[in-house]
Amino acid sequence: MRVLVVEDEKRLAEALKEILKEERYIVDVVNDGENGYDYAKSQIYDAIILDIMLPKMNGLDVVRRLRREHISTPVLLLTARETVGDRVEGLDAGADDYLTKPFAPQELLARLRAMTRRHGEVILDEMSYGDLTLRLDAYQLCRKERSVRLSIREFEIMRLLMSNPRMVLPKEEILLKVWGAESKAEDNNVEVYISFLRKKLFYLGSSVEIAIIRKVGYYLKGDQTP
Ligand code: CA
Repeated sequence: MRVLVVEDEKRLAEALKEILKEERYIVDVVNDGENGYDYAKSQIYDAIILDIMLPKMNGLDVVRRLRREHISTPVLLLTARETVGDRVEGLDAGADDYLTKPFAPQELLARLRAMTRRHGEVILDEMSYGDLTLRLDAYQLCRKERSVRLSIREFEIMRLLMSNPRMVLPKEEILLKVWGAESKAEDNNVEVYISFLRKKLFYLGSSVEIAIIRKVGYYLKGDQTP
């Protein structure tokens, strides 16, 4: 899961990043509303944590603009103000949920989980392709009684491939969605992680393979029956 944090209080932003990273989210942080909006527009995030009081563009305007452009990424608003008006305005603007500062990290994480679960049309604890099952909460890839734990990058690549089973995913898209726009990672990072995944598929004895079309991209190939 990839989360965008838009928060101008740098210490809080850093604290949020740490909390989220510990829960194995991939986190990008920006410190003003304009950047928040630009990053959110990329649609590479599974959720956005958005402060209301921000320089350049406030959080409510950020949500309104995103929703106007039919970008439906779940948004959790943060606000220091405890007025009912703000909450209503925030939800009317298109936010999904709302948390008043100061908050307990556990509550933030719980809301985030609830929000991302609600957002998906199907509530998923796992995804399947062919004889493979990807356990989303445990970062495990399984086939029958065998399972392997995936690193965050491996997991995100696998999730991306399984979410788009009939598509060939270009390396650039994998880079953008798994490493993020700001990352210095290059094409060969994708190749390296794909090779790790292939070894794990081999270990599992899966009939699924990660196939490549040269200069185009990667896709999952294999018997679709479990
Ligand atoms: Ca603020």
